[in-house]
Amino acid sequence: MLKKTLLVLFLFGVLLPGGCATNPVTGKNELMLVSSAQELQIGTQYAPEVEKQMEGRIANRTIQNYVSGVGQSIAAVSHMPDLDFQYIAVNHESVNAMALPGGHIFITRGMLENLTTEAQLASILAHETVHVTARHSAAAMSRQIGIDLILSAATNEKTPAGVVNIAQMGTQLIGLKYSREHEHESDTFGLDYMVMAGYDPAGMVEMMEILQQQSTRRKIEFFSTHPNPANRKESIIERMAANVYPQNLKTGRKDYKKYVLDNL
Ligand SMILES: [Zn+2]
Repeated sequence: MLKKTLLVLFLFGVLLPGGCATNPVTGKNELMLVSSAQELQIGTQYAPEVEKQMEGRIANRTIQNYVSGVGQSIAAVSHMPDLDFQYIAVNHESVNAMALPGGHIFITRGMLENLTTEAQLASILAHETVHVTARHSAAAMSRQIGIDLILSAATNEKTPAGVVNIAQMGTQLIGLKYSREHEHESDTFGLDYMVMAGYDPAGMVEMMEILQQQSTRRKIEFFSTHPNPANRKESIIERMAANVYPQNLKTGRKDYKKYVLDNL
């Protein structure tokens, strides 16, 4: 029955918004109910709302250019180098990062303050970039909310009671949870991306350690949407041991901490 359904969906794929498609990152053939055009539409319609709910962009141009520069070096080596990725630093105090389909990636002031090297920053941005290129965020949205609902809410500025508006939908999008498998993919392919961009993969291990330490001090929003960093750290170390990554990769600018704190 499932096979038949899949076959029908495949045959009529041209008429559907999504259809069966090969995942560009994993190479797996999977059912995609969201088209690339819809992904871009969602990203464009909701990026301003997500930004607003994360207390707006950090005003300092230096910090935006810095985050964007590191992000773009990762986007360039990703599976979607032609997508218009945007890496945006937002004012929220939480230790968090998130991705919208279509390539808007947000990192919070709280996260920037708690990292200690540029390679750690690259690891977070690389992880979020994979959520876009492997189409995780689109999959999570279609599974947990429904694409039609997301697209219709974007046009409902003033809505009757019971109908979701763009602000409520924005909150739901920020709180989207990824599956354990998708998180694992983002860690492993994110590791590849940061290495291809020239960064020392040890930065991702350190980033997990920082998140772990933070979790004992305060509730981290990143954990409400991401699995435990201790388990993730172990599989990252395994991946590093199994792969022959080049040696002496960069950690980035030596004065990361001072540079970021001076410009936040
Ligand atoms: Zn993630």
